[in-house]
Amino acid sequence: MNKLHFLTAGLPLSSEGKGYKKGLDIIKDMNLDGVEVEFVHGVRMNDANQKLVKEFASDDNHKITCHGPYYINLNSQEPEKIEASITRILETARMGQLIGAYSITYHAAFYMGQNADEVYNIVYKSMEKICSELESEGNNIWVRPETTGKGTQWGTLEEIVKLSKNFKNVMPCIDFAHVHARNNGIYNTYDEFSKMLEFVGKELGNDALNNMHMHLAGIEYSVKGEKNHLILEESDMNYKDLLKVFKAFDVKGVLVCESPNIEGDTKLLKDYYLSL
Ligand SMILES: [Zn+2]
Repeated sequence: MNKLHFLTAGLPLSSEGKGYKKGLDIIKDMNLDGVEVEFVHGVRMNDANQKLVKEFASDDNHKITCHGPYYINLNSQEPEKIEASITRILETARMGQLIGAYSITYHAAFYMGQNADEVYNIVYKSMEKICSELESEGNNIWVRPETTGKGTQWGTLEEIVKLSKNFKNVMPCIDFAHVHARNNGIYNTYDEFSKMLEFVGKELGNDALNNMHMHLAGIEYSVKGEKNHLILEESDMNYKDLLKVFKAFDVKGVLVCESPNIEGDTKLLKDYYLSL
């Protein structure tokens, strides 16, 4: 990647449900850089839209990423649900490749009251299956478990970085709002953000910092973690220092804004970043 791209999570609100053509035109008009396609209720996109998105992503300045379905739990107690979860991740990766996406992300698993090391090993086994299947299909899209927002969900930064070391096409998707919420308000200062990126660079190499997939929004949380996303300016999320840290570390890749004020906050982030 040659720079940091700013993406909306889903099509802009101002496209008013009128579809990809309008949505992608708004992205270009606003000088934003792309969209994370939300396959959160299933991996479906008609052929015409696939073509539109692929064409949009073929331009070097524009990027597409995909968010996999919510119904994924690689640590389900029911084996058929693990299989269904693997299938959903594979479907997201296949669709991602078809539409020219850079990377896919998803929430990998729940602890289900089990020991974290045990759950890591279970998630690892599914990732092995996913990666070998994608390799046999010649699909080398980035597959990225996301850092999660609640203590009941598998996916601390440490767990995902550890997993990433074992697979060529696996890297973290860092959701800074989730990490902040999960840890009851910490990870919100210049130094804390810097430590996270230092950790990623040290463990996964500089290549990781040149190819980041990240999420950001304002967030409401309790001791149990994430409650809901908020508009950036109506939250305590210290996005300004985070963007300063991105600049200092020369982070490249994509930052997806998941604020309820979708394109407005994506623009806010991009404009502030460019002003630094
Ligand atoms: Zn997510």
